[in-house]
Amino acid sequence: MAKHMSKKKASRGASRPARKAARKRGPAARALPKIVAQAALPSRFGRFTILGIEDGKGKDEAVVLLRGKVDGAAAPLVRIHSQCLTGDVFCSERCDCRGQLELALEKIGRAPSGLLLYLPQEGRGIGLMNKLKAYQLQDQGRDTVEANNDLGFAADSRNYQFPAAILRLLGVRAVRLLSNNPEKVRQLEEGGVRVIERVPCQPPVLDSSRAYLRTKKAKLGHVLSGL
Ligand SMILES: [Zn+2]
Repeated sequence: MAKHMSKKKASRGASRPARKAARKRGPAARALPKIVAQAALPSRFGRFTILGIEDGKGKDEAVVLLRGKVDGAAAPLVRIHSQCLTGDVFCSERCDCRGQLELALEKIGRAPSGLLLYLPQEGRGIGLMNKLKAYQLQDQGRDTVEANNDLGFAADSRNYQFPAAILRLLGVRAVRLLSNNPEKVRQLEEGGVRVIERVPCQPPVLDSSRAYLRTKKAKLGHVLSGL
């Protein structure tokens, strides 16, 4: 997903002038997403509508699982989830992605309205193959941030302007955001979506992911408890 971004433009590494310029360009200069497909999606977490969304330029795409009516709803419950093949599909316990995904779908499935926005930005935006290379480095003793840096990437290369544009497209101006990541909150607000509440999204901590989560807390500022 973030392949169009240069490594230097990574969110956490973005320079102050770059952020200022992005603000100056305003909503008109941001991605203009459009819905290209819509279908019913019954799941074990409840009935959703699945939307396929593209930016029309062949750069960005996303999937939305929609619950109830969010257009005009007062701050629906929203999760913006970055794809993690190893966690989401293979149930890897190196990270907390699958646990967060299930927790979010359970909560949104019980809410009157809400949505999960699924972004193909694997490995905090570095792509699947690079994420696997980072895992190899972590097996040799590097932490998740050091490994990404060793490969020439920022600690976190994700960008949330496209999801902010999708939320605006769906008529969502304010959200209760399921997230432990204050940077995500900051970027969404910069993208014109008000975060009226950050709802913690923390599944039980596993021994196999404890060190990884400690690094996310210490180096990436994630709000995590019980580590
Ligand atoms: Zn993961």
